[in-house]
Amino acid sequence: MKKPQKERCYLCLKEFDTKVMTDDHAPPKCIYPPGTPDRIYARACGPCNRSFMDDDNEFRNWLSTVASSSKSKKWIFDNKTVSSLKKDKRLLHNIQSRLSVGDVDLGGGEIARLPKCGYPADRTQAMFRRITKCLLTRFYPSYDYSNDAFLIGHMLLEEPQHRFAFWQTIAPLLIDHRGEDVFVFWRGVVDDGAVKNLAGVWVLLFYPDADLKGACFSVIHSHHQLFKTRLVTRGAP
Ligand SMILES: [Zn+2]
Repeated sequence: MKKPQKERCYLCLKEFDTKVMTDDHAPPKCIYPPGTPDRIYARACGPCNRSFMDDDNEFRNWLSTVASSSKSKKWIFDNKTVSSLKKDKRLLHNIQSRLSVGDVDLGGGEIARLPKCGYPADRTQAMFRRITKCLLTRFYPSYDYSNDAFLIGHMLLEEPQHRFAFWQTIAPLLIDHRGEDVFVFWRGVVDDGAVKNLAGVWVLLFYPDADLKGACFSVIHSHHQLFKTRLVTRGAP
């Protein structure tokens, strides 16, 4: 009898029969307008994939309210966020506690007072660890992140200090994107020779407009003990 084919889940790192494996998109598929080519995914087991289902929709709802005149962002807000909150009572219930009213940039200088959903900090950490692992699986398949610690930072690009740090960080990194104004990312991973699997630096920018406004995050990861010790000192999870 033929031995069943096995694949490794990129999240729990366990091996499963290939028949039960799924494509897990990270960043989530739902942040892209239809027709965006080559969305990034990695192979995940069913339970890992499903565990992020609500987070994906909440993350999209939250992203679609950031200050940016990205056309794709507006499309997602009009066609997905508004209707999902009307339809899905559970999703609505989940985020009701985090709803507030704020200025939302609708694009072209048009500002409206609309409900904004906050995205909880602990889930931001989980979401960005997942996105980075998916990107690593796609672009650096030999990189072993199983023992890495991840440091995630929110870059507020409207603040001059953050904007300066952003330009400094991305300068030596490689740029790539999926959709012109949906997901732009910069990567720099050390994965060769004597320092194999040392560390990675990522900058992830969602719904950027012509002024590079959007939701921006930095991720640094390493399995180096000194890095882990510093993370613990900073109180990061
Ligand atoms: Zn899994």
